[in-house]
Amino acid sequence: MLDFTDEQKMARQMLRQWCDKELAPNVARMEKGEILPYDLMRKLVRAFGMDEMVKAQFQKLEESGEQKGAPRERGIGGDPGLMAVVSMELSRVCPGFCLAFGASLGLAGGAIMAKGTLAQKVKWALPILTMEKIGAWGMTEPDAGSDAFGSMRTTARRDGDGFVLNGQKTFITNAPFADTFVIYAKLEGEDVARFRPFHAFIVEKGTPGLSVGKPMDKMGMHSSPTGEIFLADVRVPASQLVGEVLGEPSREEAREVFHGERTGMAPMTLGIIERCLEDSLAYAKERETWGHKIADYQLIQEKLTRMYVHRENVRNLLFRQFEKMHKKVPITMAEASACKLYCARACTEVALEAVQIMGGNGYMREYHVEMLMRDAKLLQIGGGTDEIQIITVARHLLKDGIPQ
Ligand SMILES: Cc1cc2nc3c(=O)[nH]c(=O)nc-3n(C[C@H](O)[C@H](O)[C@H](O)COP(=O)(O)OP(=O)(O)OC[C@H]3O[C@@H](n4cnc5c(N)ncnc54)[C@H](O)[C@@H]3O)c2cc1C
Repeated sequence: MLDFTDEQKMARQMLRQWCDKELAPNVARMEKGEILPYDLMRKLVRAFGMDEMVKAQFQKLEESGEQKGAPRERGIGGDPGLMAVVSMELSRVCPGFCLAFGASLGLAGGAIMAKGTLAQKVKWALPILTMEKIGAWGMTEPDAGSDAFGSMRTTARRDGDGFVLNGQKTFITNAPFADTFVIYAKLEGEDVARFRPFHAFIVEKGTPGLSVGKPMDKMGMHSSPTGEIFLADVRVPASQLVGEVLGEPSREEAREVFHGERTGMAPMTLGIIERCLEDSLAYAKERETWGHKIADYQLIQEKLTRMYVHRENVRNLLFRQFEKMHKKVPITMAEASACKLYCARACTEVALEAVQIMGGNGYMREYHVEMLMRDAKLLQIGGGTDEIQIITVARHLLKDGIPQ
């Protein structure tokens, strides 16, 4: 696959119009925390009939009954290209909005869709995917970020026919306002804590013992509320254990979501890169110093060229993913991590260069690249840091060789 299909291009055009009309005028107020992104997300989902598409998918799912182990459809209407187009267009205008949208649908909704029972999907994933409810995905803890599995301290204790959760999560997207939380916890037991199995639990807002902190003050992604989750003797019935089966290794489940988070970041980075490049080209052709447009200077041309090379590489990585998904060829962990590492670094570099090309203006809030630069940096941290991607790639290369 070398380019988007005609249908995807048309969707892209319509999304761009929606973003210009509905999203862009609200970005400044969302960034200042004067309004939350959720009503706009609902508007987006309804404007494009995404809720109806999801409902139709669910109807098929219900008609076919419980399909445990059946391959999961990815993306809207099973089309990862369309989901990528949504991500790209939202990220051009407001990466924070895209992050909050993706964390609810892709992470919280995705975790329940990946391993939940049919009843759990219908009760908790469907309202997230249609945006009636907002989801948060809680893995990271104050002392367990990169080493999320090994150092996790949140516990689940068996209690009659349910579980009692205790612990704390931090840096969780949407946590301050979410309705449905997917919380990872280690089962209390006799074995060595580091290797204890852990599981995902669905916790609803308002459950006794569950509380959340205020939105955290961050460098960027201001349109995406981030916060802490506190669990003090939170009792959940067994029906809220994702998959409802104990003992199955949940690491695989969480890794699958990490995998999705890693590959899913590429369209966000491409959206940011393309917008930075477009704005930089326009600026360089306008701005004059010493009686010349700055576009005439080779130092500026070198920056524009490097930005374009990154755009080409990120785009090629993305289309390679689509091709593999289309042919149902698995994307290896080394590929997913290499892709995330390259795309996130390229995105930060391009956004920084866009600021540089615009000089003092680039440093001002009035210029869009200022926000894009701060937002881009998060993509090198969230979903596994650059360093963790490097370690992952090297480990898989040394163990399995170069993926073909
Ligand atoms: C805005 C935002 C939104 C987020 N949203 C979510 C969310 O929705 N859900 C969720 O669960 N989490 C979320 N996170 C958490 C994110 O996934 C973690 O911040 C990330 O995984 C890094 O963990 P940490 O912050 O604890 O850093 P640490 O693990 O403390 O790492 C600190 C530094 O040490 C480096 N490092 C760590 N170990 C090694 C090693 N072995 N070798 C070399 N270097 C190493 C890291 O790369 C990093 O540079 C979010 C974070 C942010 C900032």
